Amino acid sequence: MTGKMQAAIIDGRAVSASVRERIKAEVSGMETKPGLAVIIVGNDPASAVYVRNKKRGCEEVGFNSWVYELPENTTEDELLSLIDRLNVEKDVHGILVQLPLPRHIDESHITERIVPEKDVDAFHSINVGKILKGEAALLPCTPAGIMELLRYYDIKISGARCVVVGRSNIVGKPMAILLLAADGTVTVCHSKTKELASVTKEADILVSAVGKAKFITADMVKPGAVIIDVGMNRDENGKLCGDVDFGSVSAIASYITPVPGGVGPMTISMLLQNTLTAAKNIIQTN
Ligand code: NAP
Repeated sequence: MTGKMQAAIIDGRAVSASVRERIKAEVSGMETKPGLAVIIVGNDPASAVYVRNKKRGCEEVGFNSWVYELPENTTEDELLSLIDRLNVEKDVHGILVQLPLPRHIDESHITERIVPEKDVDAFHSINVGKILKGEAALLPCTPAGIMELLRYYDIKISGARCVVVGRSNIVGKPMAILLLAADGTVTVCHSKTKELASVTKEADILVSAVGKAKFITADMVKPGAVIIDVGMNRDENGKLCGDVDFGSVSAIASYITPVPGGVGPMTISMLLQNTLTAAKNIIQTN
């Protein structure tokens, strides 16, 4: 064992504030304000908090925003026709449908209906394809937020061994693609990965997007690694926590994101960034 170290904390709140300042400054010079429409179906309390925070984020940077609160029994057709209207509404540059949707609505029908230019979550197949090809204007918010954190702290990705645990369409897979595009050597792990600890221990940059409290322990981490914790879980006392056993891992890592205050605050800032990008692209082509 080498000498004891204590990881530097990656401060997502501070980076997020600086991103919002940058967006706000740009918006103040724009004749047409970017506009984001957010749709929420049903009464999921966690979703309601996310939507409120998104609206607040829009207000903070000077965007227009509209929240459509639809009842739980909204039909897929009703939701699709609202999307059709927003797709052609000229003041709306970004459309976001808060997930999860009630079970009777097919999520993929909804995400595929939003025109790709207004798809600020970057879930549409066309945008996913562009991400894969390195041609995307709109990037998936959580992975894009992580890239912004790594940039801000000057953490070198090129040549680094990057291990992503989790392969969801919204976090794990696009995260791996962005790290690869930045010249990382990327391994993606999932629930069928054998000897997970031996893989994670190789990582210079370890991203955990699993959704299990205290899943990543110190024995799974290489001393000096950069640890990015995407997880949002509750511990045994009901307190918000990530996937990483923060106490033990922060004693050997070089950088670590806390939960809360790490990756989480970046996600909405990246949504705002995408809305600004979408607005500029739409305004330019009209
Ligand atoms: P998800 O769709 O449930 O995916 C979880 C992934 O973890 C899956 O790929 C799964 O593998 C993998 N996994 C599960 N058990 C495992 C194990 N024992 N060993 C290795 N891999 C395992 O979750 P998600 O949507 O990606 O979200 C992940 C976490 O991030 C959640 O806690 C979520 O709340 C949080 N999150 C945070 C933000 C933010 O802004 N901070 C944004 C999005 C998500 P399989 O594919 O084999 O099942």
